[in-house]
Amino acid sequence: MDITLVEVAPRDGLQNEKRPIATADKIELIHRAVDAGARRIEAVSFVDPRRVPQMADAEAVLAGVRRDAEISYAGLVFNDRGLDRAVAAGVDEINVVVVATDTFSRRNQGCGTEEGVGRWERLAARGAEAGLWRTVTIAAAFGCPFEGEVPEARVRDLVARVAAAGPDEIALADTIGVGTPDRVRRLVSTVTELAPNALPRCHFHNTRNTGYANALAALDAGARALDTSIGGIGGCPFAPAATGNIATEDLLYTLDRMGITTGVDITATIETAHWLGGLLATPVPALLGRAGLFPNTAVTQPVP
Ligand code: ZN
Repeated sequence: MDITLVEVAPRDGLQNEKRPIATADKIELIHRAVDAGARRIEAVSFVDPRRVPQMADAEAVLAGVRRDAEISYAGLVFNDRGLDRAVAAGVDEINVVVVATDTFSRRNQGCGTEEGVGRWERLAARGAEAGLWRTVTIAAAFGCPFEGEVPEARVRDLVARVAAAGPDEIALADTIGVGTPDRVRRLVSTVTELAPNALPRCHFHNTRNTGYANALAALDAGARALDTSIGGIGGCPFAPAATGNIATEDLLYTLDRMGITTGVDITATIETAHWLGGLLATPVPALLGRAGLFPNTAVTQPVP
């Protein structure tokens, strides 16, 4: 089986960093991911820089990365202004987030879920005109930091509504890492049932150590793209106590040994995770860089 890993460290990983990261370092991170074999990179967010200053250099990042027909760069887009910026910067993909609960939606997007669906519909149409791959992500699909449990019926209803705008891909996001594999299976099946023409994708945070189990459950249920972050860095500036995405190299370890093909090289990814730990001046959450590969147990270099 072939699946796609979408590398989200440059966007979801770095947007939560307190210390400023130089544009050149963001570009190096992206190039390292590309050199390791990643072909879809969530590189930037076209969010208002007053809300997420870490992403203020989105245009400069995209202007500095190597372009190749095989590499697809994505940017998060929240409104028409963001879409204008994304098109001008030459993104290949847009990712539009619709939040499953009103409270989190207002904090994250400045509008409720209903208005969020309306924004997605407008951006989906404009993105199609611009010839872009369009992903819609349902955030807080497995639970909300403010409202708690999110009824599955509500997510199902949202999937049906966002599917009506003809997305290329529907992603289910466990923004705060509360999901469990049974619910993952049911909701991924909901996507494949209600939106057969959209690629099913999932986005997991490993906040409660369920991220990898959820990723494998998602694949079993039909997901064909998974978001991962080198080193397992990441978070969400609008969700309390959010922690990192599932780590690219830790998931790769399992996928490689199960014979699931991604095209991403695990050794190069471990080396980048070490580099990233140096850049952020803290060890990354991923475990593989510490444990080493098996059966080749030589760790590429000591953990900083
Ligand atoms: Zn995330």
